[in-house]
Amino acid sequence: MSTEYDPARTYELDRRHVFHSWSAQAEISPMVVTRAEGSYLWDGDGNRLLDFSSQLVNTNIGHQHPAVVEAIATQARRLATVAPQHANDQRSEAARLIAERAPGDLDRVFFTNGGADADEHAARMARLVTGRPKILTRYRSYHGGTQQAINFTGDPRRFANDDGKSGTVHFFGPYLYRSAFYATTEEEECARALAHLEQVIELEGPATLAGILLEAVPGTAGIMIPPPGYLAGVRELCDRYGIMLIADEVMTGFGRTGAWFHTAAEGVVPDLLTFAKGVNSGYVPMGGVVLGPRVYEHFAHRPYPGGLTYSGHPLAAAAAVASINAMESEGIVANALRIGEQVLGPGLAALRRRHPSVGEVRGKGVFWAIELVADRETREPVAPTGGSSPVMAAATAEAKRLGMLPFVNSNRIHAVPPCTVSDAEAKEGLEILDRVLDRVDALVAE
Ligand code: PLP
Repeated sequence: MSTEYDPARTYELDRRHVFHSWSAQAEISPMVVTRAEGSYLWDGDGNRLLDFSSQLVNTNIGHQHPAVVEAIATQARRLATVAPQHANDQRSEAARLIAERAPGDLDRVFFTNGGADADEHAARMARLVTGRPKILTRYRSYHGGTQQAINFTGDPRRFANDDGKSGTVHFFGPYLYRSAFYATTEEEECARALAHLEQVIELEGPATLAGILLEAVPGTAGIMIPPPGYLAGVRELCDRYGIMLIADEVMTGFGRTGAWFHTAAEGVVPDLLTFAKGVNSGYVPMGGVVLGPRVYEHFAHRPYPGGLTYSGHPLAAAAAVASINAMESEGIVANALRIGEQVLGPGLAALRRRHPSVGEVRGKGVFWAIELVADRETREPVAPTGGSSPVMAAATAEAKRLGMLPFVNSNRIHAVPPCTVSDAEAKEGLEILDRVLDRVDALVAE
């Protein structure tokens, strides 16, 4: 079997027949990717690029991990598909491995195809269990592209999809650099964000609120690590008002922050937890909802009104089992934490000191945002929320020219390599970012 193919033909057919996500179709020029390995991928011109995006922040185990690839191939030969109502060894084992790592008493897994449907099902469960209609979510969040999930989302992509029927109410979360609460310390930001959330709950009517859906750390929206005590404070509000806490760990889960789950690391136990991406690094699509006794008991003797043909698909489940086992045996989660503490954290802080266009760097593990500003005093972003700008386009192009694929959103570059990234690769990424930021400094000064 040949793995070679014709990049020009790939591109031509893509442009003729493929309809891409989130894009003005005639204005895009997709990069052809021919192969990938570990922290690198190769484009159609044969250029090797350091993957500092982990694609859409999902290849936590790196590209083409041999144990995961082999597990998929083995499972394909044994049982390539099976209906969700049957039991299957890979699904059972994946559920055990996930439940063992989930916080507190969350011990049952409903498998979905990805993150958006995981969030939708979690919200549906919260509504059915509480008998209440509305879901609270953050401004500056991302929860997926389906009709409900995009309306849970707190970024401008929901505007065009907002039919006014989603039953979602947005609130402000903690984000000290652009505080909605005029706070100047993390403690103030935390206390005021919680007071704001409590007011929203009171004024919306607690008896109308089924769940608070919250990214454990907002990812696409800017990697704002919640201040100490915030997640616990939200848990406390949920308990006080009978609201279910739904933690979206689609991007944070499985090593990204240097922990299996950020909520577990913080000692916070949600009622429902959603995952996708890093569960098997997206080698085969998979997401899911982890739930505890309260939700389970509700559906113990009445049917759950929801399901999917591919729930717990054996190829995806085999990939999850192999991936979690490899992450455990190779110390990949610990590597992510260490890289954050020893390489990316200090390296990015040094870049901030050196480059006036960097307003703030923040993150943990292999989950970092570099926020670019036209002016450090006013903190004016170099691109609007949800949009781009010539400066951001130039930064992206420069990174690629220098051999790196970055994750870019609004006025931010996210440094989000695989959890397997080596010290040398992380340093290579920092060196490229240094040169990219030289260019941004120059453009901003013009
Ligand atoms: N939730 C979060 C936090 C995400 O980052 C994403 C995707 O980026 C989703 C949900 C949606 O996942 P999917 O694209 O698999 O539907």
